[in-house]
Amino acid sequence: MSIADRIKRVEDRIADACAKAGRDPAEITIVAVSKLKSPADIISAVEAGLQHIGENRVEEAEAKIPQVNEKTASPVTWHMVGHVQSRKARQVLPLFDVVQSVDSLRLAKRLSRFALEQGRQVDLLLEVNVSGEASKYGLAGYNWYRDSAILDQLQVAAGSIAALPNLRVNGLMTMAPFQAEQAAIRQVFSDLYGLREALAGSLKLPLPELSMGMTDDYPLAIEEGATIVRIGRAIFGDRKDSER
Ligand SMILES: *Cc1c(COP(=O)(O)O)cnc(C)c1O
Repeated sequence: MSIADRIKRVEDRIADACAKAGRDPAEITIVAVSKLKSPADIISAVEAGLQHIGENRVEEAEAKIPQVNEKTASPVTWHMVGHVQSRKARQVLPLFDVVQSVDSLRLAKRLSRFALEQGRQVDLLLEVNVSGEASKYGLAGYNWYRDSAILDQLQVAAGSIAALPNLRVNGLMTMAPFQAEQAAIRQVFSDLYGLREALAGSLKLPLPELSMGMTDDYPLAIEEGATIVRIGRAIFGDRKDSER
């Protein structure tokens, strides 16, 4: 199956999930996650109509993004979806339009500083670890609705980050637990939705975007309110390194 055919299939499943949830498919942005895939594959996805592409490693992105930008007629919006070490913050900025994986005040401060230096705005999402898995990055968010200390910490972190110059906090991002039951995955998505409502209310920020859902669970994420789905394998095919 070609990349264009796979994209069509993903779009059909998104339309089905939206119909089920009473949502408009126009509310959903597909970010095609192209880690370990070639610039040629990315160009095929862009030519098939996708505008948003995600990468998860700075070094890999540095090698691929200029090659893609040079060859695509329509501009690509690049999303960083992987963990960014603070010391790499400077490299991230010229490559990416959106940083979905802001998981500390320290990283946000560095992004803000370099954005200021470079005279630009950076759109970002706050990554929250709602599942509680130790292997996951993100601001601690497990059990936030039962543990007021967790919610307080998140409010302070989100408020401090939103107050930094040249950053725009547009919403939240999370990763579902790997190989969990559907009910547990749905719970993580619905927790992130609830957290967005809580933070938007207390911080008086709109936080319109919820980035959740990948190849194995994006229809579920859409039912639970996702506005951005990050899809790799369903568009580009399996990766050799299934860990990434
Ligand atoms: C790899 C990756 C994805 C896409 O995963 P698939 O299961 O291939 O759809 C989404 N988000 C992040 C952060 C990723 O690293």
